[in-house]
Amino acid sequence: MRQPLIAGNWKMNGTRAGAESLIRGVLAGSSGISKSEIAVCVPFVFLELGQRLLAGSAIRLGAQNVCTETGGAYTGEISAGMLNEFGCRYVICGHSERREYYGETDAIVARKLAMVTSAGMTPILCVGETLEQREQGFMEPVIAGQIDAIIEANGIESFGRIEIAYEPVWAIGTGKTATPEQAQDVHAFIRRRIAAHDAAIAEKVRILYGGSMKPSNAAELLAMPDIDGGLIGGASLVAEDFLAICQAG
Ligand code: 13P
Repeated sequence: MRQPLIAGNWKMNGTRAGAESLIRGVLAGSSGISKSEIAVCVPFVFLELGQRLLAGSAIRLGAQNVCTETGGAYTGEISAGMLNEFGCRYVICGHSERREYYGETDAIVARKLAMVTSAGMTPILCVGETLEQREQGFMEPVIAGQIDAIIEANGIESFGRIEIAYEPVWAIGTGKTATPEQAQDVHAFIRRRIAAHDAAIAEKVRILYGGSMKPSNAAELLAMPDIDGGLIGGASLVAEDFLAICQAG
């Protein structure tokens, strides 16, 4: 049985005061929720705050990106070791916004995953197709390519130490959610792809759904057999909404 993971991806949102009240709100409302594991992936500058406020709680802290290198002359970058020191459990890697706006290739994403696991944290590997790719019938080859690239670079065993998030690009921030059946199909496809190499790892790996998940649609998505949680953007910025999704898990 895979325990659902509900992770908030705040993206580049919030002020220091807003971040504090959001974390406090999630913390206060989460005490009765034991069904799901809960995480908040905050901007780097709020990690210290998150580490302090979440200390001793069951809520995990996460980051949204990491450098491909361990340290040195990489101006503006943050290493996995630094994230670990600031209490991160999770690090989102290869989000479609990073792939699209910052040129992250599968090779870069594979390297980031390796950095995160070797620093003792868990990466959340994001995969997903664009609307154009789906409409042209390329959803499966695109997703397969993103998964296979990681298997080739880091080995199938690496999937024993990561979480996967399926985020159809056309559903991110658009209000358009994949139907539970559409999402389930892709999640099952991803699991089969991994199972072809290692059935035990495929059975264990959590595959989260991301893309306009909100309180009104979370329960039906999370009820699908291969949907093991959610990566929540917009709705994670409002404590009550985020908590309602955690409750639905
Ligand atoms: P939204 O929930 O805002 O669609 O964002 C999803 C996402 O990109 C989470 O990583």
